[in-house]
Amino acid sequence: MIFDSHSHTIFSSDSDMNAQEAAIKAASLGIGLVFTEHYDYDYCFSKNFKDMDFRFDPEEYWKSYEHMRGADLRLGAEVGLTMASIAPNTEFIAKVPFDMIIGSIHCVDGYDLYYPSFYEGKDKKTAYESYLAIMAEMAVLNPYIDVLGHIDYICRYAPYDNKSLLYNEYRESIDSVLEAVLATDTVMELNTRRLNDGQTAIELMPIYKRYHDLGGRYITLGSDAHNINAIGINFGIARDFADSIGLKIVTFCQREIELIKY
Ligand SMILES: [Zn+2]
Ligand SMILES: [Zn+2]
Repeated sequence: MIFDSHSHTIFSSDSDMNAQEAAIKAASLGIGLVFTEHYDYDYCFSKNFKDMDFRFDPEEYWKSYEHMRGADLRLGAEVGLTMASIAPNTEFIAKVPFDMIIGSIHCVDGYDLYYPSFYEGKDKKTAYESYLAIMAEMAVLNPYIDVLGHIDYICRYAPYDNKSLLYNEYRESIDSVLEAVLATDTVMELNTRRLNDGQTAIELMPIYKRYHDLGGRYITLGSDAHNINAIGINFGIARDFADSIGLKIVTFCQREIELIKY
């Protein structure tokens, strides 16, 4: 069974997805689901902070959802990777037996990439290279993560006319990310949210091919759903994408890679 290994329920401050409804939706699609709630420890100190607190109590999360946990539903978290959050993340992760931890870059130099202020005064190359540099550094410094989330996150919000993250344009920076991921036994996520437009899959393909060439064999698929309609989104495209490169879709259970059959 294929898993949607990236989703957010009410424990994430930017989601009001009901866990039961999400589980029913995933079952109706014939896929498994991993809840990966946001834990961005130092987000409230970000320079463009907008009064959101992306933290939650892992024990409360466990108490609320442990009864749902099973063969087709797993409990994880998505931790924001910043220099200041390394120790708090490590402490957070140890509190309950999470199935899977995604590490993600949501903030660079104290700015949330979601808002325009990070990009002000920066050309695309400067913005994208600083994003990729921090991603490579964080992948090295946070070897405890299981999965590196959405390498193309910046493309969702960057204000440039052409938002594409092309391997040929950012070869060295992307290689640094992939090498860090492989050196720390981290699995790349293919975030499926942007795959609907056709062009995104074409653009991302060389990055994941390079990951495979460097020794990467596994990916997780993650819709990043914040509502039930997004669960499993674009998974047909994502499966073809993985198959064409020879990457195997996996998930995690009790922090161990799970080679699912599909
Ligand atoms: Zn994320
Ligand atoms: Zn997410």
